[in-house]
Amino acid sequence: MFWTLETIVVLDSNPRTDGEPVPGHFRVEEAIVGPFLKEGQVLVRTLFLSVDPYMRCRMNEDTGAEYLAPWGLSECVDGGGVGVVELSRCDGLSVDDMVTSFNWHWQTQCLMDEKLLQKVEPQLVDGHISYFLGAVGMPGLTALLGVREKGHVTDGANQTMVVSGAAGACGSVAGQIGRVDGCTRVVGICGSDEKCRVLVEDLGFSAAVNYHQGDVATALRESCPNGVDVYFDNVGGPISDAVIAQMNNDGHVILCGQISQYNKDVPYPPPLCDETREALQSKNITRERFMVLNYMEKHEAGIIQLSQWVREGQIKVLETVVNGIENMGVAFCSMMKGGNIGKQIIKISD
Ligand code: NDP
Repeated sequence: MFWTLETIVVLDSNPRTDGEPVPGHFRVEEAIVGPFLKEGQVLVRTLFLSVDPYMRCRMNEDTGAEYLAPWGLSECVDGGGVGVVELSRCDGLSVDDMVTSFNWHWQTQCLMDEKLLQKVEPQLVDGHISYFLGAVGMPGLTALLGVREKGHVTDGANQTMVVSGAAGACGSVAGQIGRVDGCTRVVGICGSDEKCRVLVEDLGFSAAVNYHQGDVATALRESCPNGVDVYFDNVGGPISDAVIAQMNNDGHVILCGQISQYNKDVPYPPPLCDETREALQSKNITRERFMVLNYMEKHEAGIIQLSQWVREGQIKVLETVVNGIENMGVAFCSMMKGGNIGKQIIKISD
């Protein structure tokens, strides 16, 4: 028998479906963990937690997606996490194993069923365990499989790729994969001059556009003199309309996410304006919805590929790290408004 007093984060209230999330929608509490570890369970200590845009849907009473359950009011919030096994009553996991899960409670230590956990090998990421939540985790896989499954990038075809949300977790990796896979130009769109500088100077993007400054269409025309062949779309809305208007015939839009619409009461994917619909049709541009969870059979090989690129330095990893479980709500809301460069991570313990 054992018990410990742990800090947890619960959902305090829902924002309106068309409202902006604020840290006050979350509440920090203490909870007793224990006293028994059932057969098939482990006690895990949380090292890092992830905040991700899809969580905005989980704050609504109806998430709008059958594969996403809403977070319950006054219930512990969950999402991506990584940590270490402290006690084990299962055959597949031992004390000190590193594990990750998509259903990790926002809790300093928690009991988890073995079937919700995957073991991870720290040497894959040279000990940077938080990478399993970013470039060598779900966002990295989203970038890799999104580009490979929907991008039609062909080495030597002189293609130009544009990435929106380019300085974020998925976008920063997607642009680098576009370069590795042979695009001649990779142009990022993001929300600050500092992000633009990082994309070009640190990650090797050909150019970057700050959508808060000046006219995106004009800046894009200058950055993409031969038009756009592949568009990795993380944001939707007017930014995506501007990109699609400059796409070449037979181009491809990777419909990854539409974060500019997540605080609006619209279905997913949100409806397009007439001009954009006509542009897609008249120029024979594909725009297929991409979902990383639909490619589970490719995740293991994808993680190996991503970790190899990261260790070789072909893909650089950006992270914004906030300390302390009490800052989960602040970190989530900051990420939704562009406070992050690279993957937004929360460090919970050493
Ligand atoms: P990011 O790390 O990119 O963080 C979100 C970023 O979105 C912010 O940093 C901000 O950057 C940008 N943003 C916020 N509001 C707006 C707006 N109104 N217009 C333009 N940009 C905005 O998050 P992720 O990399 O985790 O996710 C990126 C996208 O990928 C999301 O749309 C997400 O839903 C999607 N996704 C899809 C998956 C799939 O399977 N299809 C899986 C994982 C993610 P800035 O400063 O540039 O505004």
